[in-house]
Amino acid sequence: MKSKRKRFDKSRFLLAGDASGFTKKGESKMEKMIVGVDLGGTSIKLALLTNDGQFIEKWEVPTDKSDQGIHIPKTITIAIEDKLKEMNKTKDDVAGIGIGAPGSVRLEDGLIFAAVNLGWVNFPLKSVLEKESGIPVIVDNDANIAAVGEMWKGAGNGAKDVVMITLGTGVGGGVIVNGQVAHGISGAAGEIGHITVQTENGVLCNCGKTGCLETISSATGIVRIANETLQSTTKDTILKKKFTENAISTKDVFDAFKDGDEVATDIVNHVMKYLALVLAGVGNTLNPENIIIGGGVSNAGELLLKPLRKYFDEYAFTTVRESTKLSIAQLGNDAGAIGAAYLVKKFITKEIN
Ligand code: ZN
Repeated sequence: MKSKRKRFDKSRFLLAGDASGFTKKGESKMEKMIVGVDLGGTSIKLALLTNDGQFIEKWEVPTDKSDQGIHIPKTITIAIEDKLKEMNKTKDDVAGIGIGAPGSVRLEDGLIFAAVNLGWVNFPLKSVLEKESGIPVIVDNDANIAAVGEMWKGAGNGAKDVVMITLGTGVGGGVIVNGQVAHGISGAAGEIGHITVQTENGVLCNCGKTGCLETISSATGIVRIANETLQSTTKDTILKKKFTENAISTKDVFDAFKDGDEVATDIVNHVMKYLALVLAGVGNTLNPENIIIGGGVSNAGELLLKPLRKYFDEYAFTTVRESTKLSIAQLGNDAGAIGAAYLVKKFITKEIN
């Protein structure tokens, strides 16, 4: 984990001489930039950030998944090199690359145990990318990194005990205890979306099990439940039109819920009941200061939080109910890059304990 890179100090010196002469009182010499990477199955989102986690540049490139994803580190390297060139900067201006990958990760050496989307099994991402790019790298799971981003600059508001659950196409989770991301023995800690909530007649999940929370409270799950409900209901509902057009979205469901639609209310309550059941369990286990709900579904905001809180209060242990807050994520798609920057500061430049 300890990287001994002499050129680090040298370039800091060069940069300081570069800083056009005027330095505000108390301001330190110019800091290096950080690269944040959010590695997805279809695109790789990259960002250059200041040392304090402010965005300088954001861009993305397509993910080349051919040959079991072997070209991905090269794609990332070229994307960074091109951007630096465009900005008249060099790799010496970069402190490190923080990268969030979809899969189970071993933090110590940046090994990806498995990232099914990318074709990786036991892929040593950190060492391959460091070799390719010549820049120090820190890797973590994408949901963990988003949780770190929210802890640092978003809804976590600096709290050290934070759980984040991301309700998107799938359901991801990140657990931070006393400022440290929990990884577990094989990097699978925080897989909240794959907690079984239906022990009978559960729907098949992407992970191969049945009845996971993901099959219910992901965007995909909510749409599936909406379609099933509308197929059988005899009640009048404003969702019927969208249903016959085969175009129901989670937003339609929450909009109808907002208007007091009875069928939409049933769907939302059903979904929130299962979500609250799991979050109350997580709450009882960790008693975090904050449980942050992110992902596309969380755009419903207070419409989602209100029923969720009602069931959470019912299922959580009294002390947990009174001390653990439920809140909506604030950083959206930026959480990954910001979390990646935090990890660079923590593990590469060692500015954060
Ligand atoms: Zn699952």
